[in-house]
Amino acid sequence: MKKKIIIANWKMKLMSAESAGFVEEFVKIYKSNKKMEAVLCPTFISLQSVAAQLKDKEIFLGAQDCFWEEDGAFTGEVSPKNLKELGCRFVIIGHSERRSHLLETDEVVHNKVKAALRQGLVPIICVGETFEERQEGAKDFVVMNQVTKAIEGLELDAEDQLIVAYEPVWVIGSGQAVAPEEAEHTHQVIRQVLIDHFEPATVKERVRIIYGGSVDSSNIKDFFAFQNIDGALVGGASLEPETFNNLIQQASQVN
Ligand code: PEP
Repeated sequence: MKKKIIIANWKMKLMSAESAGFVEEFVKIYKSNKKMEAVLCPTFISLQSVAAQLKDKEIFLGAQDCFWEEDGAFTGEVSPKNLKELGCRFVIIGHSERRSHLLETDEVVHNKVKAALRQGLVPIICVGETFEERQEGAKDFVVMNQVTKAIEGLELDAEDQLIVAYEPVWVIGSGQAVAPEEAEHTHQVIRQVLIDHFEPATVKERVRIIYGGSVDSSNIKDFFAFQNIDGALVGGASLEPETFNNLIQQASQVN
């Protein structure tokens, strides 16, 4: 059975010393369990030191982005091969902040997903509608389109895994998550797109659909109670070790 997963996205918020301090505390209080995987996604600069701190701990490492080529003349970019070498298992791709501030297109996202899979990384593909798109009644269409473009023509090899993170852009960092029932509906829509593309068994065994957007320890159980919600991507509530650990413990109580 697939485990549920909780992923901390630290964005550009924790500097190196703060990341080190977080991990030092977190490894003391975090108790791994059979139902759940925990992932930390620090900045690129902190990956190497966090990787060393997580050695032999049952906590996974993820990056917040990667480039779509393995190596070459791409000044300032970070290779998925390099991420793998540093010990990353996961990589966030197409976060709405990158789509809006760095103008990442669906094509860029698609190429990054392919590059990550080539390295055996698990891509966390972020999709979600803006408030305006929602007001136009286009939410499901926008999400279906983003997922389709990200996975078009893609095949998953035996060892490959994929995560789709549904993150309504307008609730990220707002302190107000969408209703869990609504997230569940959108997750069903996403699952259908995935089933139409991959074999149903592949989706069941190797693809997880997770929710992100103002998740915290007070609402995580409500999301995890739904069948199609396989985990959470957490921003603000992942920045303090006790808060993040409490969130994971709450989630672990849901059957
Ligand atoms: C995010 O940016 O991926 C996110 C989910 O942020 P927050 O939890 O702060 O809404």
